[in-house]
Amino acid sequence: VTDVSLRDAETGREYPGRIELEAGTGLFGFSVTSRQLECLQRWADRHASADVAIEIDTSAPMPVVSGALEGRDGGREVWMTAHLCHPRPSANDNASGVAALLGVGAALASARAEDRSSAADRTIRFVWAPEFVGCAALLHSHTDPGRGGLWPLAAINLDMVGEDQASCGGPFLVERDPACRPSPIAPVAEHVVERVFATTPTPPGAWGAMAYAGSSDHALFADPKLDCAAVALRHAPDRFNHTAADSTDKVCAAEMRRAAAAAAALALVVAGGDAVSWPAVREVVSAWTTKELADARRVAHAHTGVDGGAWSRGLLRRAARQAAELLALAETPGTFGPPPGGEEQSEPGARPRVRGCWSGPLNLRAMIDGMPASGRAELSALIAADERNRAVLSNFAIRADGTRDREGIVADTSYALKRPIEAGIAARLLEALFESGWVVESEPEGSIGAGRQGVAEPPEGVAG
Ligand SMILES: [Zn+2]
Repeated sequence: VTDVSLRDAETGREYPGRIELEAGTGLFGFSVTSRQLECLQRWADRHASADVAIEIDTSAPMPVVSGALEGRDGGREVWMTAHLCHPRPSANDNASGVAALLGVGAALASARAEDRSSAADRTIRFVWAPEFVGCAALLHSHTDPGRGGLWPLAAINLDMVGEDQASCGGPFLVERDPACRPSPIAPVAEHVVERVFATTPTPPGAWGAMAYAGSSDHALFADPKLDCAAVALRHAPDRFNHTAADSTDKVCAAEMRRAAAAAAALALVVAGGDAVSWPAVREVVSAWTTKELADARRVAHAHTGVDGGAWSRGLLRRAARQAAELLALAETPGTFGPPPGGEEQSEPGARPRVRGCWSGPLNLRAMIDGMPASGRAELSALIAADERNRAVLSNFAIRADGTRDREGIVADTSYALKRPIEAGIAARLLEALFESGWVVESEPEGSIGAGRQGVAEPPEGVAG
């Protein structure tokens, strides 16, 4: 019995929060308010006892629902996802994403019914499923080579999109792709969100962009090895998230419309077709790179004291390289990513390369479960001390693609997050990857002693 509760400063009311137990545990738990816990504690002190009958229904199904608006060319699809699961009331997380995606589907379908010429080139697939596992299952069956399945070209995830900003406390956010490979998806996403907010001045609302954190379904598509461009639309922070206070009174109808409009516009641009002007997309990309370079100069200037200025110089080098790659990519209409496998090493040198040995999307939770108990406890403490460390870990993991050494992974992640990562924390998080057995080090190709710790077989439980 625990009180991970939330006290609403305005009303003084207290709401039970969500507790998470390990998968397959024989334990059960109760989440209560602190007042209830105090009461229970008083009774326990007086040696009161309680008999509790727990019934767990492990047969309850959670559906994977999907539908598609067929495109004209039958090639790789654009996926839009919203997760169905979560303890109630879960109004914003994630009934809001589910409802907004239904709205997107209805709007795009009726637009097409009115005007056949509005059909996109690529199929847009809508996916409502339990978070992570549902999308993973659908991807697994959909991309089966035996059935001619193709990996999606892009994914747009809607998770916590309806927040009333005034009460929940966080802005509307575009969570970018991990920026390991160039893609116009984040520039276009930020452009449509900017336009949506510019055309809906009331109620007032803020929006912004954030670096890849990978805490929802888009993480399944974001691994750069998988050749898919993925972004998420969301709000953060939300002071009511994962508590009994995430109820419909925290949802703002105008914000729902903003989210649905932005998601629909983004999907249409990525899906391509007569309605999309690629020169306009190129202009958006060009303006975005100019802004990003200016931002990199600002961040670099603020960190000139780190490593004698080396971090700032690295950040500027990476920003310039990324801008050049993105502008070059945008020369080819309809392209949302380069062909896979063309990525260069981020840092030259003869140090061992770090390589993940799982196939398919990364399952970060299973990776953490693969760690020895002591390492897992230490990692939990690191994440509890600073929630941003989870995002750092997931950024590290997807960069373990055999082209970078340890330093290269840390540097590239810190540039994507636009902040230096403290050396001790970086070392500890990297070590966690190795402890899980999912990541190994091997000598760069051509050097003496290649394959020092080469692993041919993926660790147990990694399949699928
Ligand atoms: Zn959630």
